[in-house]
Amino acid sequence: MKETADVVVIGGGVVGCSILYNLGRLGITDTLLLERDVIGSGSTGRSAAICRMHYSNPVTATMAWESRRIFANFEEMVGGPSGFVETGYLVVVENEDRQGLERNVAMQVELGIDTMVVNRDDLRDIAPMVSVSDDEAMGWEPQSGYADPYLVMSSYANRASEMGAEVVTQAPALGIEVQGGRVRAVNTAAGRVETHVAVVAAGPWSRVELAKVGVDVPLVPVRHQVAYIVRPVDRLPFHPTVGDIAQSMSFRPDGPRFSLMGFGDDEEVELDNYNEAAGMDDMASALTRMQRRVPDMAGAYFRGGWSGLFTTTPDWHPILDRVPGIEGLYCAVGFSGHGFKLAPMIGVTMSELIGQGATSSIDISPLRFSRFEENDLLTSSYRYRVLA
Ligand SMILES: Cc1cc2nc3c(=O)[nH]c(=O)nc-3n(C[C@H](O)[C@H](O)[C@H](O)COP(=O)(O)OP(=O)(O)OC[C@H]3O[C@@H](n4cnc5c(N)ncnc54)[C@H](O)[C@@H]3O)c2cc1C
Repeated sequence: MKETADVVVIGGGVVGCSILYNLGRLGITDTLLLERDVIGSGSTGRSAAICRMHYSNPVTATMAWESRRIFANFEEMVGGPSGFVETGYLVVVENEDRQGLERNVAMQVELGIDTMVVNRDDLRDIAPMVSVSDDEAMGWEPQSGYADPYLVMSSYANRASEMGAEVVTQAPALGIEVQGGRVRAVNTAAGRVETHVAVVAAGPWSRVELAKVGVDVPLVPVRHQVAYIVRPVDRLPFHPTVGDIAQSMSFRPDGPRFSLMGFGDDEEVELDNYNEAAGMDDMASALTRMQRRVPDMAGAYFRGGWSGLFTTTPDWHPILDRVPGIEGLYCAVGFSGHGFKLAPMIGVTMSELIGQGATSSIDISPLRFSRFEENDLLTSSYRYRVLA
């Protein structure tokens, strides 16, 4: 392992790998990524990886839209596959959220995002298998879909390594050494790595890492569940990705035979001590709701499931910034269950911040570290938190 590096990234999920790759694009290649287990062993490896654009704030909508362009052109833009599949994305909310939905869609259209408000009649053409009531409102994004978290993350890690970065697994960062208010090194069991720049991208464990240097960041892990469903493909060869907010769940196809659904109460749990399986009762309840939304799912059955952690902040938006008070320390944390779809632009913007001192692609100041103590939290058009 290197003994010195220009930048040390802590955490080998999709975010750390995207930052590492994008630093390389800027010519910063004397870099090291430390992963305590194997890459993807955190939230990334458990992600449903839905890539939708529907957000309440321009900063996240823009990041999602720009990231979608990268996912869809990954081979040319990054190298290697992303597994992106364009399925279309239908967001369904209850009538009382109609205004919020319409406001969000109008904001996105203004930003150039391909989206529209649709009604029940439109569904006959777009998604005839989906059933909605007159009490529900819908938005449609023809170009949204899902990607493969492992392919995206490993493509980023491989391209970064080809440019000169070192990716070391089974190598937890034990602590960041700070002297005179600035980063001096990152310590590992294999030795000390001298550096002036450390980036905390340790997913749910980021709060622990930052606490070691006396920084309190408001991150709370919550459990989210995912299950595989075998579709009755004779009746239902395809369905779009659906953010069924009205029924507190989401689902998408996963190849020609399977569907993946995300659900659960998103309850607060202990970091390394929670139920990593999916609950049978929760799966059964989610399948019933999914069958209500897509009646041709009758006869679908489970193929297994799991749980993973959302790393939530008080406003369910990420923190992408320098860490105030410690020169050379950065963090990309708190993705609150929607970080996969933003990961390409998280890497672009964080590498600009680190390498150039400021972002030139997207203004990420709404996601600044200090917004919590300034009481300037981001707001949502909805009551639902993960939709942000
Ligand atoms: C069940 C589930 C479904 C989801 N569905 C979606 C979705 O549909 N769409 C979407 O956009 N997002 C979704 N998300 C969210 C998305 O997956 C995450 O926001 C994203 O993967 C976060 O990536 P990350 O790299 O920040 O964190 P992680 O993937 O958790 O990576 C952090 C890494 O840091 C490592 N680490 C921790 N401590 C240390 C240390 N001291 N030293 C070295 N390494 C360390 C960990 O081992 C881990 O590999 C979902 C998440 C879950 C759990």
